[in-house]
Amino acid sequence: MITPELRHLAPRYDVVISGGGPAGMAAAIGAREHGAEKILMIDREREAGGILWQCIHHGFGLHHFGEELTGPEYAQRYLQQVLADDIDVLTDTYVYDISPDRQLKLMSGSHGIRTIEAGAVVLAMGARERTRGAIRIPGERPSGVLTAGLAQKFVNMMGVLPGRRVVILGSGDIGLIMARRLTLEGVEVLGVHEIMPHANGLNRNIVQCLHDFDIPLTLSSTIVDIRGRERVTGVTVAPVDEHLRPDLSRARDIDCDTVLLSIGLIPENELSRRIDLRLDPVTSGPVVNSTMETSANGVFACGNVVHVHDLVDFVSQEALLAGRSAGDYVTGHRPPADNIRLVPGDNVAYCVPHTLSTDREHVVYMRVRKPMEKCTIRFGDVLSSKVKYVFPAEMVNITVKPKFLENFHDDTLRVDVVQR
Ligand SMILES: Cc1cc2nc3c(=O)[nH]c(=O)nc-3n(C[C@H](O)[C@H](O)[C@H](O)COP(=O)(O)OP(=O)(O)OC[C@H]3O[C@@H](n4cnc5c(N)ncnc54)[C@H](O)[C@@H]3O)c2cc1C
Repeated sequence: MITPELRHLAPRYDVVISGGGPAGMAAAIGAREHGAEKILMIDREREAGGILWQCIHHGFGLHHFGEELTGPEYAQRYLQQVLADDIDVLTDTYVYDISPDRQLKLMSGSHGIRTIEAGAVVLAMGARERTRGAIRIPGERPSGVLTAGLAQKFVNMMGVLPGRRVVILGSGDIGLIMARRLTLEGVEVLGVHEIMPHANGLNRNIVQCLHDFDIPLTLSSTIVDIRGRERVTGVTVAPVDEHLRPDLSRARDIDCDTVLLSIGLIPENELSRRIDLRLDPVTSGPVVNSTMETSANGVFACGNVVHVHDLVDFVSQEALLAGRSAGDYVTGHRPPADNIRLVPGDNVAYCVPHTLSTDREHVVYMRVRKPMEKCTIRFGDVLSSKVKYVFPAEMVNITVKPKFLENFHDDTLRVDVVQR
């Protein structure tokens, strides 16, 4: 899909969306649905669509469209809708600054340095991959150590193989998907090493990408040395104890020419910091209320910039709400303010949104800290829901209806996941 060039950039828009991935596109559609007239979506890449263009595997859209699409197919459907809705799309443009009164500074290939004003802003900048420096792997500094997402871009978009014998560190979804992709391309994938005692990717990816291709997954194991002067020649892996300390007496060497890292994503919050948004230390994203508004008036956020999602369908669902709320903000149709703060309790790492209102239905997304089977998700004593299992890698989402909250008069609601 070619994003048409935007010839005229207006000095003021009702809603400006920073980031044109799945979150940005759904937010733009939501803002249009709720009455915003002039809408601009900006992306630093040549095409809007975000990470989806390089995800050529299927597995997108099962919840939203009820069919299994590839990443590019999913992106294409949304981008067509964005263009049909007459939303201005400005690509090859970086948003490098934002002020509390919602002036955005842009650096654009076709428009140069520009400042534009926005009635409301939606932050949808996604997340970036953690690199070797983030976990300080000891050893030499040869070429051949790269993130799984970069390898995915090389293989799927540029037709270049990153190496011939690969070890993958971390069992995040991107690493699992790449284990399969590289195997299909004739590369030898020697194994995936995960420091935690449980895998960090979706169960369906463990089965379809590792088990189906006989790729070994070693849990409680990490890389303790990378060797090679110009190019990687091998790594040393060692098991870790319950405090994640490697046991070097049981270390072993593996000959390889490439190390792929799939060790997590970090929300891209440089812009959020420019306007001192309140950030959640667990998600590393902005604290948001039930309309996805951040701690700055008229600044909304959605997608991976708020918390890392496993499925794009939930990104689109959350972003549609953020966009609709931005539309409501500029048309003056704001819902009543939130009156309940959610407090993560037993086995709950975080909840998004961070606050709720007793008068509306909400979808609450959360992640657990450790796997648990046959458990109950409890929202204080107003709501409890039985689930077969929970897993840190799989986001849990739960709908909270107003009827559960109508007799609730406290201002905090504790959320726990407990064994049945
Ligand atoms: C490798 C991989 C495999 C995946 N596989 C699946 C799958 O099988 N099924 C599934 O449902 N989900 C999958 N996902 C998850 C899903 O793709 C993501 O959750 C989703 O893409 C996040 O959407 P986003 O819009 O928040 O971020 P992104 O898609 O990352 O989009 C953010 C956009 O913002 C732009 N941007 C950032 N900063 C700026 C700035 N300052 N100025 C201008 N533009 C900016 C970026 O260029 C980017 O285009 C996968 C994700 C990855 C990374």
